[in-house]
Amino acid sequence: MLLGAPGSGKGTQAEMITRHFGIPVTSPGAILRRERDLGTPLGIETAEAAQRGDLVPDKIIVGLIEDWLRLHGGHGFVFDGFPRTTPQAESLQQILQRHRTPLDLAIWLDVSEQTITDRISSRLQCQSCGFTTSASSAVFAERPICPYCDGPLVRRTDDDAAVLQHRLAEFNAKTQPLADFYQKLGALRRVDGNREREAIFADLTRLMEQAA
Ligand code: ADP
Repeated sequence: MLLGAPGSGKGTQAEMITRHFGIPVTSPGAILRRERDLGTPLGIETAEAAQRGDLVPDKIIVGLIEDWLRLHGGHGFVFDGFPRTTPQAESLQQILQRHRTPLDLAIWLDVSEQTITDRISSRLQCQSCGFTTSASSAVFAERPICPYCDGPLVRRTDDDAAVLQHRLAEFNAKTQPLADFYQKLGALRRVDGNREREAIFADLTRLMEQAA
């Protein structure tokens, strides 16, 4: 699983892991954005909380993960942005026991506040496939277009500076305690997330090979 603050690069690294190793990824944040764009009951129910920068209730998130595992479970998977609270982590322990799957790694992407604000303020995301990039790292014609699927690259509506402050407060209060939780289980590995995506990915690859 990949843990870390908003903008720590969880989604980017999860995408690289899937592309290189073919391991399926589940990201509750990405699922909820898609549900919102499709206007489903779940999307509508959770959109306001996500837009404010609040975490979505644990019961909804754990239900999403259980559904996803019923479809994809069994052959290894990566969680991006899950768990984010102690009750979610406790539920996950029970779920993994039921699936007789051990947790190999809890990778914590450490980033400075400066990295977070820089990345979030220039982040663009494809509305169709979720590909994430930075406005400064890509050269665009008149309209930013996704290099993978030609979808429109837009700013996430929760990437606004005030909402980000709230997401960071949620992270500090509710997600930080998970570092201790996974440290005690012997699964925690901290990686410096302030670097280029390739350098971070090289560290993750090494950790995954060691754990295999
Ligand atoms: P980021 O890591 O950049 O904050 P995500 O895409 O992972 O972005 O999450 C976006 C939003 O989705 C969160 O701010 C929160 O409202 C909701 N969300 C995602 N994952 C969880 C989770 N595990 N528990 C509760 N809410 C979540």
